[in-house]
Parts: sequence; C-alpha cells; structure tokens
Amino acid sequence: MSDCKLDRRQMLKGVLLSAASVTTLQPQQSQSAELVKLTESDPTAAALGYHTNSKNVDVKKFPTYKSTQNCANCVQLQPGTGNDRACNIFSGKLVNVNGWCKVWVLKPQ
Ligand code: SF4
Repeated sequence: MSDCKLDRRQMLKGVLLSAASVTTLQPQQSQSAELVKLTESDPTAAALGYHTNSKNVDVKKFPTYKSTQNCANCVQLQPGTGNDRACNIFSGKLVNVNGWCKVWVLKPQ
C-alpha cells in the first residue's frame, strides 16, 4: 500500500519536472524566431561597414578587406544552416553568410 503512494509521488514529480522543462524551453525557441535580417542601413552595421554581399565591398574604403573573407569563414558567425545566421557581434540579427564587416576574423580551421 505504501509502495503505491510512493509510485504516485514519483510519477507526479516526473510530470511536474517535465512540465517545468517544456516551460523553460519555450522562451528560447521564440527568441530565435524573433531574429531579423541585418540591413546595411542599421546604425551598428553601417559603423562596422557591414555588406550583405562581400563582393560589393569597396577596398579603397575598407583596405583590410580581402576577397577570401566573408561571414561564412568568420569566427563570429554562429553555427547553423541557411544563408542567414546569427553573429556574435550583431545581437538579435541575422547576417548573410556571404556578407562581411570590418571586424572579420578568420575562423580556426
Ligand atoms: S563579425 Fe564576422 S560574421 Fe559577423 S558580420 Fe562581421 S564578418 Fe560577418
């Protein structure tokens, strides 16, 4: 009889822990869904010379740029799939993997 009460308690505890886990995960999922594409006219993007396509970078204006540099091989790009991904520099925004900005740093190979 007492084993039966213990089983119900354990089951209730498991259900509560599962519900708490689901509640904790939901805000993280909605945060990633709220990311918007970074535009070149964004004030921070403009200050850092962000270009959605690295091929359009003016080397006279940005002499540190090299044609092999882009967001896809920058250490600041977060892992993921698709052409638009999160970058550690532009919080809450998605950068194009073909883009570039002047804080580009080669990702370790
Ligand atoms: S820091 Fe790197 S990944 Fe982020 S926008 Fe600049 S070049 Fe792209």
